[in-house]
Amino acid sequence: MSDIKVKIGLECHCQMTSLKTKLFCRCPADYRGKPPNTNVCPTCLGLPGSLPYLNRRAVEEAIKVALALNCKINRRMVFYRKNYFYPDLSKNFQISQYDYPLAVDGQVTINVNGTDKVIRIKRVHIEEDPGRIVYKGSIESSPYTLVDYNRMGIALLEVVTEPDMETPTEAKAFLQELRSILEHLDVSDGSLEGSMRCDANISIEGGSRVEIKNITSFKEVERALSYEIIRQRNLLRRGVQVKRETRHWDEVRRVTVALRAKEEEMDYRYFPEPDLVPIEIADEMIKKIKEQLPELPATRRIRLVKQYGLTEYEARVLTSDKHLADFFEKLVSIHGNPKIDCNLVINELLRLLNEKNIGVRDLKFTPLEVSELLRMVDEGTISWKSAKYVLRKMVETGEHPRKIVEIEGIRRIASIEEIEKYVDMVFEKYREDVEEALREPKVVHKLVGEVLKETKMLADPKITFQIVSKRIEKLRELKK
Ligand SMILES: [Zn+2]
Repeated sequence: MSDIKVKIGLECHCQMTSLKTKLFCRCPADYRGKPPNTNVCPTCLGLPGSLPYLNRRAVEEAIKVALALNCKINRRMVFYRKNYFYPDLSKNFQISQYDYPLAVDGQVTINVNGTDKVIRIKRVHIEEDPGRIVYKGSIESSPYTLVDYNRMGIALLEVVTEPDMETPTEAKAFLQELRSILEHLDVSDGSLEGSMRCDANISIEGGSRVEIKNITSFKEVERALSYEIIRQRNLLRRGVQVKRETRHWDEVRRVTVALRAKEEEMDYRYFPEPDLVPIEIADEMIKKIKEQLPELPATRRIRLVKQYGLTEYEARVLTSDKHLADFFEKLVSIHGNPKIDCNLVINELLRLLNEKNIGVRDLKFTPLEVSELLRMVDEGTISWKSAKYVLRKMVETGEHPRKIVEIEGIRRIASIEEIEKYVDMVFEKYREDVEEALREPKVVHKLVGEVLKETKMLADPKITFQIVSKRIEKLRELKK
């Protein structure tokens, strides 16, 4: 069953959050947190007599992305009306692109478990975001539907891939890379709620293509796809045909539910938007944007390996999130030990961020404070183990590391005399273990553990081990 081919294609909708205004009117692009239906005007609502005018910056930003995705930019692009009757569109059509999209034929290389894979990009186009529909609880059980048009008209970039992905993990890797590219370009801020959403097409050999709609964040994609693969496989196993349909991802219940039979393209009755002229994109404009492209994740990865001697894996983890890589580079510029700094960022810090489900930019401290923490380890004031504890406290409280160390009385005990006192205590308390350690060297580690526990893990483990070993050795000599 597992060698049955799975094909996954993605349609990613990314808001160009770098823009100040909506795509076709001057309403502010920052709609979040505003009272419902207050961030609107006759144009984005599509009231009779209003006319759209294209935001030039949106085209420039979209070209940046298309170039970064190695696409061919069409010199002539046309906006279309995509007609459909749904409460999230007050004018009953969405201004989108159909023939003559902004760009086609690109590619992105992803890496899963150390292996590179090319994912082809079918097209990149510009369109307006619809309004937001709000249900009470789940879509099926909600007694009513609320609609908020504040989001309507926000500039969206739609990135459509070929069905080149074969596992949910590959889909996740693609989305992570796309998000990192958009953040390096400073076009879209993926940490904003709903700024990156996704529809996924999935088919299993022998079944029809199913579209999963409304996956509200890139994070949910892997879950939705995994669920859908199991559902379709079970149907095929029972000899039931998988229907061609559109399904909705219910985040709360973590299942997909049938929405409607899949609409065909002709159902949308696409026709050129008569209120907007076709846009000619000049070569000079593309050239100028190309020259100003910032460093992208793929190039940055190579540089991090070269400049700091990181492994490819480490560089990949860092660049999967622009802000994480920025944090690391800032830390190295202050503390100056790439290996240790990278270890702290990708192992300790990233684990804490995942555990608390927050981003680097949510931290209440900067790389400067982290460098202070590492300096305390360098000075021998605290152990590496304590440093990890202090880092956790920093994430939780935002307190300065030196203050945490002071308040909690954390220090590294390295004085032989002081540690010996604890060793005396432990040897007295665990006589049987001491006897056993004389015959069985492994038990020495248990004694070391007990000493460390007595010191509340503050004693230097290496020095403690030396003292305990020496003491056992001496006892053994005496016994002879
Ligand atoms: Zn408006």
